[in-house]
Amino acid sequence: MTYSQKQILLADRPSGKPTAETFQYAEVPVPTPEEGQVLIRTLYLSVDPYMRGRMNEGKSYVAPFQLNEPISGGVVGEVVDSKGSKLKQGDIIIGNLPWQEYSVAGEKEVRQIDPSIAPISAYLGILGMPGLTAYFGLLDIGKPKEGETVVVSGAAGAVGSAVGQIAKIKGARVVGIAGSDEKIKYLIDELGFDAAINYKTEDVGKALAEACPNGVDVYYDNVGGEISEAVHKRLNKFARIPVCGAISTYNSDGADLGPRIETTLIKSSVLMQGFVVGDFSSRFSEGARELAGWLQEGKLKYEETIVEGFEKIPQAFLGLFEGTNLGKQLVKIAEPAVK
Ligand code: NDP
Repeated sequence: MTYSQKQILLADRPSGKPTAETFQYAEVPVPTPEEGQVLIRTLYLSVDPYMRGRMNEGKSYVAPFQLNEPISGGVVGEVVDSKGSKLKQGDIIIGNLPWQEYSVAGEKEVRQIDPSIAPISAYLGILGMPGLTAYFGLLDIGKPKEGETVVVSGAAGAVGSAVGQIAKIKGARVVGIAGSDEKIKYLIDELGFDAAINYKTEDVGKALAEACPNGVDVYYDNVGGEISEAVHKRLNKFARIPVCGAISTYNSDGADLGPRIETTLIKSSVLMQGFVVGDFSSRFSEGARELAGWLQEGKLKYEETIVEGFEKIPQAFLGLFEGTNLGKQLVKIAEPAVK
């Protein structure tokens, strides 16, 4: 007997902001694993800002999604059938898998995770790609020193909330920039940020002057655009800027948003470096070990915004551009059958 399942295809390459028409639902058979493969039930699925770039034509640092093919990304799933030699039914894995309820993958294409270290969803956030992005971008490029001032934009998101806390662990003064009063309160009261600025209601330049009386030594940039321009004006001599993301421009229709930073880079001997987390792949185990250690010691906290149901995936993805998420945005698709 063949069972059917839902999947989501890229129906159209969006110009500007994606809409419901960007996504198309399909009903397809649940695939059967072959020798060396496993059948995986999707439990948690990650939606991430970088997926917007993959909806465009042309390669950036990851290949574009193909039209009328399933969109794919980070998934935590449960092995429900195994034709492999290592993974068995009930094992929990993480992998890059299509947006569908069940997938087959070669055993080597997925990685088993340990549910005893943290809840399995954390492997898509603080213990996964976003956590590692925060860790390496901040420590390898930002190199914050004790007593320095670190400013992070997108501060209440998956990457930003980890950046601020790691900077605190390293003894820095931390200022976050985010888009709601609830997020500002969370950053200060829950995560111990020294100050936080609501860019939607405050004059960012003025607020930064108050929050950073000694200037800015590290600016961890998740958003680009006008927010970053305001931070650039306050950079200290020998400041460092890990350029992680530019979400304010991802749905741009091509309007010129800069850069206008060259004179600042020169005048203050500032180092500005773009990166992708994959640049550090040879050291992922070091990063994951450190993050897990801080988590277990209670030095690192994380928040997740979890919506439930396969049909909520597009909405969860689009919410990233509206700031509806606090911490890591996930979609819960199913409960593990084996507890
Ligand atoms: P988040 O969890 O931070 O979610 C995105 C957040 O961006 C939203 O919650 C929203 O918060 C904020 N945002 C949305 N639109 C705007 C805007 N126009 N201006 C300012 N802020 C905006 O996502 P991630 O933590 O996963 O990613 C953060 C950034 O890091 C992204 O730019 C992403 O592309 C980048 N990234 C880069 C990687 C790399 O390897 N270089 C790897 C992973 C992520 P708010 O309410 O504050 O507006």
